[in-house]
Amino acid sequence: MKRLISLLAVLALMCGVAAVPAAAAQTSAALTISTSKSAANTGDEVTVSVSVSAGSYLGAVDCSVSFDETYFEVVSGSESMTSSMFGEVNLKGNPVKYSGVVLNDGLTDSLTLFSFRVRVKETGGTLTLAIQNALDGRNDEDVTAAVSSNSRRSATVSCAHAYTTTTVTKPPTCTAAGQSVVTCTVCGKQVSTGTIAAKGHTAGGWTVTEPATCESAGTRVQKCTVCGAVVRTESIPAAGHKLSDWKVTKEPTCTEAGTRTGTCSVCDNTATESVAATGHKFSSWEVTKEPTCTEKGSRTGTCTVCGQTVTEEVAALGHNIPEGTVTKEPTCTEAGERTGVCTRCGKTAVEALPALGHTFGEWTVLREATADVPGERERVCSVCGAKETEEIPFGAAAEEPTESLPAAGTTVPGETDEPLALSEENPRTNGVLVGSACIAVLLIGTACAALITLRRKKRRG
Ligand SMILES: [Zn+2]
Ligand SMILES: [Zn+2]
Ligand SMILES: [Zn+2]
Ligand SMILES: [Zn+2]
Ligand SMILES: [Zn+2]
Ligand SMILES: [Zn+2]
Repeated sequence: MKRLISLLAVLALMCGVAAVPAAAAQTSAALTISTSKSAANTGDEVTVSVSVSAGSYLGAVDCSVSFDETYFEVVSGSESMTSSMFGEVNLKGNPVKYSGVVLNDGLTDSLTLFSFRVRVKETGGTLTLAIQNALDGRNDEDVTAAVSSNSRRSATVSCAHAYTTTTVTKPPTCTAAGQSVVTCTVCGKQVSTGTIAAKGHTAGGWTVTEPATCESAGTRVQKCTVCGAVVRTESIPAAGHKLSDWKVTKEPTCTEAGTRTGTCSVCDNTATESVAATGHKFSSWEVTKEPTCTEKGSRTGTCTVCGQTVTEEVAALGHNIPEGTVTKEPTCTEAGERTGVCTRCGKTAVEALPALGHTFGEWTVLREATADVPGERERVCSVCGAKETEEIPFGAAAEEPTESLPAAGTTVPGETDEPLALSEENPRTNGVLVGSACIAVLLIGTACAALITLRRKKRRG
């Protein structure tokens, strides 16, 4: 029972307390404290502003900004105020005080009431706004408590971490990445962490782990000089036997191979290899059947080593026709025939005459090659009129004149169809006189010299 009474008393008290400010809190006016920088470094200047929300209808306001002098110092003479309100800023001392009044029905626009500058002595400090007095401009009502509760009351200037140091917290190994942290030397805060790439192995020299023998391969490895891990493994090829001290175990004959055995100087193993047959040796041959113009003969010889007798074929001699009549003329592409009497056998025989092959004249350019398109040239057989065409490679066009110059010097002008660079100076007449030919040769020679000089100059340039 006693408890219930005290509970009711508390409730009544709470209602009473709540009822008084509720009647006076008919405003949405709010003040905001802000700084021109949310992060700064020691020595930086920061502008502190207190602004009012739109439609606040504030008629008068007294407020102050307090701060810890360890972190900030006020820059004297740095205050500025809005022209919408008659006000005064007192920068002397801490807190910085402001009091302002506006006529008519109070403030309607959002605006900055006042601002001032502070110098950052140490980073991480907070500036606190306190509202001492606020009046509604429409009815002079005290709205201090409501404005205070609606307002933003503090602004903190944290460290901008301008000065940092990097510390390796985990060194990298050959295979694993390491780690580092970046710490602000001003506020001591860890700004970021970083990864340091693994260093990779450092291969050392080769170590033979299993030596190669004559017959089997060995192994060698390369180890990391830092961590000892095997970086590379390689096979060493078998050395093969080093055979010497050969002994013939079976002598070769004229027709059959022999054998010989050698001993390895390294492992003492023996190996046997074959020795080639020597082949028969003949000192003289006896012709057993003479060859004729058309039939093969034969001859017999006796080996001086084994005494074996061998009979060999002797090729037919073919007819011998020193004088004959051409019974079919050979052409450029087809073989001809000559018929006559053989001086050996007296028979009339026909002998083949080889085809003559084409007799081509000079090349005629059908299409000049350019820097990127091939050209085409043609030449004609003076005997049968057969034509042959060929591609002129592109790109090399500029080089061509110098390559063909020596040939041009020895050719009589008019007979050549070569596309010479000098052709403009080259007299192209078909009725060539010896004199004009000489002049032409001279002209070409001079042009040659001029071109070579030009090319040399070009090269130097
Ligand atoms: Zn810092
Ligand atoms: Zn390693
Ligand atoms: Zn051996
Ligand atoms: Zn023999
Ligand atoms: Zn004959
Ligand atoms: Zn021909």
